[in-house]
Amino acid sequence: MKTAQDLLSQLNPAQAEAAAHFTGPALVVAGAGSGKTRTLIYRIAHLIQEHGVEPEEILAVTFTNKAAAEMRERAGHLIEGAGELWMSTFHSAGVRILRAYGEYIGLKRGFVIYDDDDQLDLLKEIMGNLPGVGPDANPRQLRAVIDRAKSNLWTPDDLARSGEDFIAGLPRATAVEGYRRYQGRMKGVGAIDFNDLIVLTVHLFQEVPAVLNKIQDRARFIHIDEYQDTNRAQYELTRLLASRDRNLLVVGDPDQSIYKFRGADIQNILDFQKDYRDARIYRLEDNYRSSASVLALANKLIENNTERLEKTLRPVKQSGEAVRFHRAIDHRSEADFVADRITRLHAEGLNLGQIAILYRTNAQSRVLEESLRRLNIPAKIVGGVGFYDRREIKDILAYARLAINPGDDVALRRIVGRPRRGIGDQALAKLAEWAAARSVSILEACAQAEEVLERGANKAVEFAALMTSFSEGVEAYPPQGFLRLLIEGSGYVEMLRAEGTEGQVRLENLEELVVAAEEWSREQEAHGSGGTIADFLDDAALLASVDDAKTRRENNGVPEDAVTLMTMHNAKGLEFPAVFIVGAEEGLLPSKNSLVEAGGIEEERRLFYVGITRAMDRLYLTAAQNRMMYGKTATTEDSRFLEELEGGFVPVDQFGQEVDYKKSSWRQYRPTVPVAPPARKDTSSMTAGMAYKGGERVKHPKFGEGRVLAVSGFGDKQEVTVSFNSAGMKKLLVRFANLQSV
Ligand code: ATP
Ligand code: MG
Repeated sequence: MKTAQDLLSQLNPAQAEAAAHFTGPALVVAGAGSGKTRTLIYRIAHLIQEHGVEPEEILAVTFTNKAAAEMRERAGHLIEGAGELWMSTFHSAGVRILRAYGEYIGLKRGFVIYDDDDQLDLLKEIMGNLPGVGPDANPRQLRAVIDRAKSNLWTPDDLARSGEDFIAGLPRATAVEGYRRYQGRMKGVGAIDFNDLIVLTVHLFQEVPAVLNKIQDRARFIHIDEYQDTNRAQYELTRLLASRDRNLLVVGDPDQSIYKFRGADIQNILDFQKDYRDARIYRLEDNYRSSASVLALANKLIENNTERLEKTLRPVKQSGEAVRFHRAIDHRSEADFVADRITRLHAEGLNLGQIAILYRTNAQSRVLEESLRRLNIPAKIVGGVGFYDRREIKDILAYARLAINPGDDVALRRIVGRPRRGIGDQALAKLAEWAAARSVSILEACAQAEEVLERGANKAVEFAALMTSFSEGVEAYPPQGFLRLLIEGSGYVEMLRAEGTEGQVRLENLEELVVAAEEWSREQEAHGSGGTIADFLDDAALLASVDDAKTRRENNGVPEDAVTLMTMHNAKGLEFPAVFIVGAEEGLLPSKNSLVEAGGIEEERRLFYVGITRAMDRLYLTAAQNRMMYGKTATTEDSRFLEELEGGFVPVDQFGQEVDYKKSSWRQYRPTVPVAPPARKDTSSMTAGMAYKGGERVKHPKFGEGRVLAVSGFGDKQEVTVSFNSAGMKKLLVRFANLQSV
């Protein structure tokens, strides 16, 4: 056990001062790698050791499950009784609170949490008969509306009062009605979504002060990491929690705010002093993470942002290796370059676990995986299509949800035909209609199918009986046993067996699911809380991927010897001795969408800054001159950010040898061997008078005015995606579209 003095001696004076902060509000604002998270953890240890605060009175909120797990581990080394600390994400804190007290605000006990896909399935259905919706409107638009509203704590009525004519490309009235119906349907099936985990907790706190008070006893000292990425709803949740004892310490870096698209409000950190007038502000200015050359590059980049608080960030480390940049001919040779460099780093003595490849979009991971596999380099992907996103896993979990909650129509629709059991689309439509007319579940309609269907009623009745037998197993079995019951009893196994090799892989995944449930149960028991299948489903919905859980399981926290692949968003807060950032191209980094959004470029620059500052000693940037995107190969342009960074890195060829790129060649660079067919001079697209790049304002004879969001293809196959002011999103062939610029 360390004394309080020992503790603080492991920090620099500025960090030690912040870590010794006792009561009242405090803000630690500092750049990347300056020890904010470290200081937060030491502060918790210091509270316990110096001030006798009980671990049961301390809450620490992080952004991802992975970060929470890491924090728990770091705290475990410092603090006795660290197991009693409440360390979680906002979302898992919400689950815990709502499971315990949700009934006070009318939440059903067995509520289910819809993940992104469940939500989209429901939205698709809702959009199908929503007035004012064009044939090619996308349910994702409605999801964006709902995300936006909920992250601001707006009800449908609040949204109706917003001054905007269009919300996420939908006319306001349509957006509001869609949101309203969505809420109605979710309530009907007893489901909530991720945003609700925060929104409903806020409601609960507002409406039932006794509950708030009880939670406040468990959170007398509150810590929030990555505060720059909190949205309005999370801000309000924090404010309510801290309102009694006012012991709130938040840490953050406005330059790393990267979730504006999900409603994060950088203003929350900038306004902290206004909200808490007696707040102490602590600044940390020494970067311990990165070599001086990496840090110089990061600083050089972020200086280009105009909306920012100036702050100092000095390197503690020496210059070390120069940052390298490689421009490959296409995405495949880019991936090969990365794999090749990794082999060399490994030969030089680096563990693979110390290496990360970061990209802008999950779609970039496949080619990288292939190149790594060719060189036998083990890799693990964080996020993306994780274990719990796989079809067979979601199917079995949907069976489980339906067994727990017979009202879950989305789950029913998912699995009624898997395996096929003679209930066709038409029969299902009739059953759904009958159910809607009587305000009962579709499963109930199945049970009564003799009254609904002329033919094949027995199939539906059988299905209802099967589900009833599963429902009876909910209480009777532990989670792993229950899952096995579903997998075998549903006929799913036979279906997969008939699918050959692919089915075999899926079967193995289901086996893995049972193992995961078993491990999970054991963990619950170790914490003294016997978990039910419903609890397991909650955790499954929240887990980014089982790859995480698996790594934890197999390695007990020791980094596994595999390269980590993830998006820059997911890399927040982490660090690696060697980092590759791939795809430094216009349209990818910065992303296409960011080009047309207010503040979009600055947000992308912050994202790139987050990526760069993950690197401790080695950093490689790469770009591909030709890239396959959306099924088409197109020539790319170097990212504008590379231009801003010129001089801060060494350009290298595919062998890692320094090469001389002319300054003037940035951005104008064109490949000598075009992979894609060159754009033909095509008279009809010439009449449009534009070579579209994205961002242009255009006018269409029928759809009116709008803005070009994306361009793909060449010559007479060139297509543009246009967001029209009133007609919504349309994908048009330039040759026929007759667009005029405005
Ligand atoms: P980010 O903004 O990326 O979240 P951060 O400010 O939270 O970064 P940490 O992750 O806490 O930074 O620290 C970065 C690295 O520097 C860690 O490896 C940490 O252990 C190390 N570090 C921080 N402060 C010190 C110190 N005083 N002595 C030694 N190492 C330190
Ligand atoms: Mg941190």
